[in-house]
Parts: sequence; structure tokens; C-alpha cells
Amino acid sequence: MKKVSVVIPMYNEQEVVKKCYEKINNTLKNIEDKYDYEIIFINDGSKDETLEILKDIAKNDKKVKIIAFSRNFGHQSAVTAGLKNVTGDAIVIIDADLQDPPELIPQMLELWEKGNDIIYGKRKTRKGESKFKLLTASMFYKTLNLLSDVEIPKDTGDFRLVDRNVVDIINQLPEHNKFLRGLFSWVGFEQIPFEYVREKRYAGKTKYPLKKMLRLAQDGIFSFSIKPLKIVGAMGILSVVISILILIYAILSYFCNWNNLTAGWTSIMVTMTFLCGMILISLWMIGEYIGRIYDETRGRPQYIIKDTINFENDNKG
Ligand code: UDP
Ligand code: MG
Repeated sequence: MKKVSVVIPMYNEQEVVKKCYEKINNTLKNIEDKYDYEIIFINDGSKDETLEILKDIAKNDKKVKIIAFSRNFGHQSAVTAGLKNVTGDAIVIIDADLQDPPELIPQMLELWEKGNDIIYGKRKTRKGESKFKLLTASMFYKTLNLLSDVEIPKDTGDFRLVDRNVVDIINQLPEHNKFLRGLFSWVGFEQIPFEYVREKRYAGKTKYPLKKMLRLAQDGIFSFSIKPLKIVGAMGILSVVISILILIYAILSYFCNWNNLTAGWTSIMVTMTFLCGMILISLWMIGEYIGRIYDETRGRPQYIIKDTINFENDNKG
């Protein structure tokens, strides 16, 4: 029998844990005659009761496995850890807050049986998300696709069903700070979108404040493209051209008496600040890459696992 693994990252989700487990479990129970399954929760260093509730569930249901991090390592790390420890043939990645409906898993499995390797959720409409979130999300995808070398489908999050082969490949990639939706797009294989309506968060607040969103956007841009560096180059050339033009203008105005000194002061100030700005932006961008190189060379793990539950029979964990 084929096996389905469901990976669910959790950070301070005490309000939704129970409901989330029930829904996913019911969905999988319904197809139990066709598929074996496991549910893997990754507790990403929650500070609330999430882990206790999860442990309770795992006590009564051996198909529920838990990976507990030693602290909060972020959503992408949590999913990465889940993927490293799955034993299924088809792997589903889903958010804890039920914004991505678990009831869709059987339909996704059908598409998988037809030979598709990645079935990625594409949000048709998004319910109950603030204007700010929608605006930033759309800006995020636009910038990403403008700057990045791989095409990352718009309105696609991490909700997807992925074949074992693809997960094995993702697991073998040595890079840290994995930007998963980019990598999934990058690996190729047979991919099809799966349109769905993104529901409202079942309970609790978003665990993605602006700071974490910006971090994710940066990972997406800087780990998938060197275009920002090329833009820096173009800006540099442009500013040199502009300063040469200004120089010519200054020389001409000196000889032709167009201007007096006080007016010239303005242009110097403008070029000075402009160039300083350019240099600082360039340094920042180069710094982003160097920072990432530094991260990779240190080889620090992307997450630390403190505890695992119900993995005893897998020789893994
Ligand atoms: N999450 C996580 N670690 C974090 C932030 C979020 O594991 O540092 C999980 C969270 O519990 C949820 C999923 O990632 O299951 C998506 O988070 P959320 O629903 O808050 O994001 P949004 O839907 O608002 O973008
Ligand atoms: Mg959510």
C-alpha cells in the first residue's frame, strides 16, 4: 500500500492544533483503505501549549509523529525538517491554521496517481486577509519574478503534494536557508497547479509578521538570483555617466559664464549624495551575498531537534 505523509509546521498554534489534527486525520481516515498514512507535526519552538497538546494527541495515535525544535527556527526550516523525516510515497505540506483545506488532499492524490510529481496549491481567492497582506504578497511575487532566475508561480505558497523522488532531491541539496517554493519550482519534473480557495485562518493570529515576510522575500531573491548584483553594476555605470555629464556641464558653464559658484554647489551636493547612496546600496547587496556565503561555509544546521515522538520504528529522526 502506498503511504501519504502530511507535514505541518507549528508555531504558537495552541488554538488550532486540535482542530487541525481532527480535520487532517478525518480526511486521511476516509481514504485509509487505499493509503497508509503518517502525520508529522513540527513544533517550531512554540512558547504556548502547542507541544503539550501535540504530545497528548501522539499518545493516542501512533500515526502522529512530532519533531520538536529547540527554539523557533522559522517556517521554512520546520518544513525542511519535516521533509527530511517523511517515510511516505506522496508528501503533503500544509499550514496548521486550516487556510489550506485538508479536504483537498484526496483530489490532489488523484492528480498524483495520474503521474504528476508536484501538485501545487494556487490560491484562487484569499478570504479574510488584510489589504496590507494582499498588497505585500502581490509585491513579493512581482519583485521575486522580476529579480529571480526561476519562475515562481504567482499566488503559490507551500501548500502542495510532492512525490517522494522530488523530496529526496530536495533533501540532498546542501544549501541552508532553503526557500522551498523556489526550489520546488527549480527542480522541474511534472508540475501542475491546483486551484483552491484560501480560507480564513481558523483561529489565532498570523505567525508571519512583516519582519519574517521580509526575511522570506530576501531569501527568495538572494538565493535564486544574482540579478541584484547586475542591477548594482548598471546603477554604477549610470551614475558614472551622469557624473561625466555633470562635469562637462560644469566645465562649459565655467568657460561660458553660465553660472556662478553658489549654484554649482548644489550640483556637487546632488552628485555626492547620489553616489554615496549608490555605493551604500551596492555594499548592502554584496553584503547580502557574502552573508549568505558565510552562512553556508559555517555549515551550521538549519535547525536543531530537541525531541522526537513516535519515530521509534523508522530508524530515523
Ligand atoms: N510557522 C512556523 N514557524 C514560524 C512561523 C510560522 O512554523 O516561525 C507556521 C505556522 O504555525 C503555520 C504556517 O507556518 O502553520 C504558516 O504561518 P501563518 O499561517 O501564520 O502565515 P500566513 O498564513 O499568515 O502567511
Ligand atoms: Mg496562515
